[in-house]
Amino acid sequence: MELLEERIRRDGVVKAGGVLKVDAFLNHQMDIELFSQMAEEWKRLFAGKPINKILTIEASGIGIAAVVAHHFGVPVVFAKKTQSINLDGTMYSTRIQSFTHNRIYDVIVSTRFLGPDDHVLIIDDFLANGCALRGLLEICESAGATVEGIGIAIEKGFQPGGDELREAGYDLQSLAIVEAMDPATGAIEFRS
Ligand code: 5GP
Repeated sequence: MELLEERIRRDGVVKAGGVLKVDAFLNHQMDIELFSQMAEEWKRLFAGKPINKILTIEASGIGIAAVVAHHFGVPVVFAKKTQSINLDGTMYSTRIQSFTHNRIYDVIVSTRFLGPDDHVLIIDDFLANGCALRGLLEICESAGATVEGIGIAIEKGFQPGGDELREAGYDLQSLAIVEAMDPATGAIEFRS
């Protein structure tokens, strides 16, 4: 998506260790007009799919997913990060390795908000190694929900998550795929 690529070029900051900082418009300060246009693009890309729920993970997926849910006219559920899992069967839970914080955390979704009747579009801000997404996919599987697609704002194509999920057969639509980036010059190359 041209508009998002331009914005990443303009306001993104390339950090060492393969990290792209986009907190000026995506995950700290949030450009809601940009989110609206991203949502419209996903509506076009997932047209015809019977999506009745958006699923994301806290914290930085929530803003984008909320705008997407508004455009699709469906509820949004976010997986919560938690210290303690209660094992009484009222929660789906999984463990996720965090790319940015280099630790493992538990995430939960209440069984009240996801189930076999749901046709889910998963939305997140970044896709790197795919750990966050695999956690959300596992939660959907536990719930018996159907994953209709995955919408990612920025995929880092030099990390394996995206290509692995496409090979596994998921309809994964990333609006910008960064193929390479150089912290010394700030140069960013996108997959065309
Ligand atoms: P994964 O689980 O695919 O390895 O990483 C995805 C998660 O890590 C995203 O939800 C995002 O919050 C975070 N993340 C991964 N790479 C980056 C990055 O380059 N910049 C930022 N800001 N977050 C990232």
